[in-house]
Amino acid sequence: MSEPPAPSAPPQDFIRAIVEEDNRTGKHGGRVATRFPPEPNGYLHIGHAKSICLNFGIARQYGGTCNLRFDDTNPTKEDVEYVDAIQEDIRWLGFDWADRLYYASDYFERLYELAEQLVREGNAYVCDLTADEVREHRGTLTEPGKESPYRRRSAEESLDLLRRMRAGEFPDGSRTLRAKIDMASPNLNMRDPVIYRILHAEHHRTGDAWCLYPMYDYAHPLSDMIEGITHSICTLEFEDHRPFYDWVLDALRTPCHPQQIEFARLNLNYTVMSKRKLLELVREGVVSGWDDPRMPTICGLRRRGYTPEAIRDFCDRIGVAKRDSTVDIALLEHCLREDLNRRARRAMAVLRPLRLVIESYPENLVEDIEVPNNPEDPAAGIRRVPFSRTLWIERDDFRETPPPKYWRLFPGNEVRLRSAYLVTCTGVVRDPGTGEVVEVRAAHDPATRGGNAPDGRRVKSTIHWVSAAHAVEAEARLYEHLFAAEDPDAASEGGDWKSSIHPGSLEILRGCKVEHLLAGARPGDRFQFERLGYFCADPDGRPGAPVFNRTATLKDSWAKIEKKQRG
Ligand code: ATP
Ligand code: MG
Repeated sequence: MSEPPAPSAPPQDFIRAIVEEDNRTGKHGGRVATRFPPEPNGYLHIGHAKSICLNFGIARQYGGTCNLRFDDTNPTKEDVEYVDAIQEDIRWLGFDWADRLYYASDYFERLYELAEQLVREGNAYVCDLTADEVREHRGTLTEPGKESPYRRRSAEESLDLLRRMRAGEFPDGSRTLRAKIDMASPNLNMRDPVIYRILHAEHHRTGDAWCLYPMYDYAHPLSDMIEGITHSICTLEFEDHRPFYDWVLDALRTPCHPQQIEFARLNLNYTVMSKRKLLELVREGVVSGWDDPRMPTICGLRRRGYTPEAIRDFCDRIGVAKRDSTVDIALLEHCLREDLNRRARRAMAVLRPLRLVIESYPENLVEDIEVPNNPEDPAAGIRRVPFSRTLWIERDDFRETPPPKYWRLFPGNEVRLRSAYLVTCTGVVRDPGTGEVVEVRAAHDPATRGGNAPDGRRVKSTIHWVSAAHAVEAEARLYEHLFAAEDPDAASEGGDWKSSIHPGSLEILRGCKVEHLLAGARPGDRFQFERLGYFCADPDGRPGAPVFNRTATLKDSWAKIEKKQRG
């Protein structure tokens, strides 16, 4: 919880400082070329959004380019479903790779040629150790590794074996191609890392053309080099891999040598972010899919009602640091509320309805009440909402016996019906069987049309309402954090990270009564339901039977945290 929000000034960080210095010295001829390199093995999440904003943001800021490159070197976990979804999500976030969409698999032939060059020049060898043996030979942080007995194989023999590996002569796992570096290196990544493995598997793009696949650590620097990337920005866990990144490019004397720069990944509380875990939640049906509104995925946030502007603002505010930390999800919600408060149209919706009958109001009269669409934005105009004798109000806005400081409806008390009239509670109707209050009766003051008394008398509360005859039935889905624990991994203490899943994280309310204009809400339309929170129409809704996801409540816990921090 250590990253304070910065004002929305142009972000300045250590990576942009490097880029500016490089531009000043002409290191890359003044060029700035970045890339966003997702592996198509899952949907993008809010952590990826940080990387997207950074890579595309830097390119935009310095007049450079940012490529989208699918790092598809692992055929067994990848899928075109993910390839399509990733592109949709990046576009939705507001970024564009123009015609620079690439796949690491497009470079397989070139990567293989370079591997042959490494072998010919004595920088790589074919090793016949099994994966377990390679691991045993690797040593530990305190002990040097042991050289493979195949390390001294001649270049000719390795080259011949490599070609036969490619030709499919050997089974999976029987041989690997390894870089010849230093088995005593203090950096385990430099102890003759495997750069090719045999895998007889269908690839989603290259089909069965290959049974030999490059390792990520080998493919990545070369893909960057082929694309002429200048700044290869990645997360901190790759810091120890940087020496190998540089070794590959140096060993092959490539004409272009991108600079790898690491930054701290985004961690958020009350959620998990690894794609493996998110996939598990989907597969086990803990959530309804990758786009379940409780997921930290981009498509989940979108379905929940998040705006791209709010997510970009969040990414600007958390900044880019070199040390890992966890960001409070309240900050993300704060960015969302700020944006929606400015832009979301107001509407009246009653989630837990209770009937209110205005006994003094004529039976068949319907008046159009003018209500502002957004008090924050006069340009949003006004709308007309029908008012009649029988209304729906929130069950919680009435108490027969009011607790202290309760100023809403109770017998004898006067309240304002938003923009309509002042009404005084005159009594209740009970269910004869259960004694439960099923209807509240009231009298209105006809002189208070619009909601204000000409004699200046004041009421302490304003409640919202929907005319019963005009109301549209809707479903509302209310969400809480998917995990009850702030850090689900720590909470499980070596046990199951799913142990803190919050079973009450979704509450479905049917039979909600909403303003008639909401009947035509289209999926993705966002509203502020007066006094209740921000809601977004869900694709599960049908015309006349809308479904709304609660995007966020109105209460802003981050604003409170901020205030406390300021003293
Ligand atoms: P995960 O750990 O969730 O599986 P990953 O790093 O394997 O993610 P990639 O598809 O390889 O996922 O990620 C694409 C890019 O996004 C990489 O450059 C990676 O560093 C970056 N990235 C992934 N997760 C985060 C995060 N939490 N914060 C910032 N950047 C991230
Ligand atoms: Mg990765």
